[in-house]
Amino acid sequence: MKNTFLTRISFLLIAAVLCCWNPCVANAATTKQQTGTARPVSIPKKKQTQTTKTQAATSKATTKSTTQAQPKVTTDSTSGYQNVVTWGKKHGMRAAWTQKNKTLRLSNDSTTIVLNIGARHASINNIKFALCQNVKMSGGNVLVSTQDINTALEAITNPRKNAVRIVAIDPGHGGSQPGAKYSGKLEKDITLMIAKEVRTILQNKGVKVIMTRTTDRTMDLKTRPKIAEQNHADIFVSIHLNAAAADANGVEVFTTTPAGAQSTTPDSGSTAATRGNKYDAANALLAYHIQRQLVQKVQFSDRGVKRKRLGVLYDTAMPAVLVEAGFISGSKDQKKLFSAAERSKIAKSIAEGILSYKKTVESVKPAEKH
Ligand SMILES: [Zn+2]
Repeated sequence: MKNTFLTRISFLLIAAVLCCWNPCVANAATTKQQTGTARPVSIPKKKQTQTTKTQAATSKATTKSTTQAQPKVTTDSTSGYQNVVTWGKKHGMRAAWTQKNKTLRLSNDSTTIVLNIGARHASINNIKFALCQNVKMSGGNVLVSTQDINTALEAITNPRKNAVRIVAIDPGHGGSQPGAKYSGKLEKDITLMIAKEVRTILQNKGVKVIMTRTTDRTMDLKTRPKIAEQNHADIFVSIHLNAAAADANGVEVFTTTPAGAQSTTPDSGSTAATRGNKYDAANALLAYHIQRQLVQKVQFSDRGVKRKRLGVLYDTAMPAVLVEAGFISGSKDQKKLFSAAERSKIAKSIAEGILSYKKTVESVKPAEKH
């Protein structure tokens, strides 16, 4: 690959053009933020007055446990916020500052949650997870918004019973919409190859799979979740690739944004509740399981579970996520995306994430049902 000035300029131009409609290019948050305003498709266009700051770079919270200085436990809750230590106690979680008044760790035998005061993300079992509101501290209490407790922390630590019999897989783009491009490689081709492998793995495990496309054809965004709905799919998983400059690498999984909240990366459109919000908790759980597999098994850098009202997510009538399985333009991710063996690992991890979600929700005992 020649790295001439011209090649770089033409790549940026292509990226800028693509990002007008391609959520994948737009999600490249680490660089070229000005090209990064993926707009949700077909949401009523009320302009937001606030701009959301892109999440800070992955600052991995240290999880070294220090048991001195136990954070305060109270039952108080300010409006819309809860004392997260009190919440954790209900799940048998011990709380400890790993950095006094800065980093709080909650843990029990199965889950470790790390929260940084002032940050809008958590680490859940070492997976970065975007929150809707900043973690706050007031009167010695660590406060997390009730919405984040319900759609992130509780969603993962205390899942609801569900069944997964039919899975809809949506290979991003197709036909006249190639998605992101790099050096002759097209996102639409790679997503289809990955999706077909995911299908085979799931079918071998006895799961019925619906594909929104199996050939190189053009499809609009609305049709994709509709196909899933018409075929009574229990979950919807859209597969895409990101694009930005060569130093942007890593995986991220999107769910639609909980009602009223600002998305993780800049978003335009209404923040009103949509059909997809009915599944906020399940969306989060599914995203977490897929992100975790991709980070652990493919060694992708962890860009986190994120929130955005994307066209295939916000109006979807079942738990739904959009996987950005690496950067087609990323110097590290290309090694994974352009090699058949490595690509198979990505497909396997997405499938294992789905199977892990399935096992989790199906093994919830009826007594634990909410
Ligand atoms: Zn895409």
